[in-house]
Amino acid sequence: MTDKERQEATAVTTSPYASDALAEGTVDAVVIGGGAAGLNGALILARSRRSVVVIDSGAPRNAPAEAVHGLLALDGTPPSEILRRGREEVRQYGGRVVQGEVVSAKPAAPSPDGDLRFTVTLADGRSITARRILVATGLTDVLPEVPGLAEHWGHSVVHCPYCHGWEVRDEPIGVLATGPVSIDHAFLYRQLTEDLTYFTHGTDLDEANRARFAARGIRIIDTPVTEVVNDENGALAGVRLADGQVVARRVLAVLAQLQARTQGLEGLSLPVLDLPKGRGFASGMAGTTDVPGVWVAGNVTDLVAQVGASAAAGALAGADINKMLAIADTDAALQGIAESDI
Ligand SMILES: Cc1cc2nc3c(=O)[nH]c(=O)nc-3n(C[C@H](O)[C@H](O)[C@H](O)COP(=O)(O)OP(=O)(O)OC[C@H]3O[C@@H](n4cnc5c(N)ncnc54)[C@H](O)[C@@H]3O)c2cc1C
Repeated sequence: MTDKERQEATAVTTSPYASDALAEGTVDAVVIGGGAAGLNGALILARSRRSVVVIDSGAPRNAPAEAVHGLLALDGTPPSEILRRGREEVRQYGGRVVQGEVVSAKPAAPSPDGDLRFTVTLADGRSITARRILVATGLTDVLPEVPGLAEHWGHSVVHCPYCHGWEVRDEPIGVLATGPVSIDHAFLYRQLTEDLTYFTHGTDLDEANRARFAARGIRIIDTPVTEVVNDENGALAGVRLADGQVVARRVLAVLAQLQARTQGLEGLSLPVLDLPKGRGFASGMAGTTDVPGVWVAGNVTDLVAQVGASAAAGALAGADINKMLAIADTDAALQGIAESDI
């Protein structure tokens, strides 16, 4: 399986929702991506009486999960329900949510008063002009290349102890290591079960960490894993090792490589950072970037942000965009007065 195929295996498209029409003329902001980050950014902008259009391809990262956990007041709510409510809230204040995939976003000629402009183009050829851009396209989880792993993603193959750890407590869990970051991951899962096996799967595990694992009763297997084995009902039953042995497990904890979804956004020239867990867009306070007029929020820049942190980052970015637009509006008004004096 290639990287692209593995990315596609973890990308799940939610059921389509009613799309608004794309706005005519220039809007204050286009938000690319309508997950928690993008919708909260749009909500703040719409409530600030900014014209805002969210363009969303409808494949949020947590789509395979039955419920969102660890989110105050919404714990246990299906991801699709949170997003449905979010879209409604944005629309309630005049924001638009358009289903579509952005294939190009790039700076355009500034307005006559020198304000920034961007052109955003969708896969179906339609385009829209915006004064500011919020990129909230999330990330893709790239799983290790083990046959049978991807089909259980988000169910019996899990990554985040805070998202679905409680749901798999006391189960026989295997940590399938993907690198040094898996060591800490193992201790977090040990908090949830006493029956934990660490499959090094070709990654290093030094003597000090072997001793720490032994002290917590974590079993270590160094023989590589060749495939995931299912029971007769299709449920995850264990892993097969290179020597043919099958190790029974009900759950596998795997830290996927986290790859920001940057496709179609190359024209914005946003700097990308390589991080221990993957790649994301670089950002500063409130999601600002090195590119004037472009903000980023959520998993596309903060690879480990959960839903709450992603929504909060979107809200901060939305507020910062509104502030910068207020400054630009005032500069334009001042310039207009100065010109009328001439
Ligand atoms: C299996 C799983 C379970 C999880 N469970 C939990 C949990 O229980 N609790 C929790 O807090 N967190 C959980 N998370 C993490 C959660 O998914 C993220 O924190 C959250 O989705 C980040 O929000 P976001 O808005 O940054 O990105 P996303 O939710 O991924 O939204 C990005 C949106 O942008 C769209 N998009 C991407 N590219 C384009 C483009 N070019 N044009 C238009 N639209 C585009 C996508 O279709 C998507 O709708 C889980 C993650 C996974 C993988």
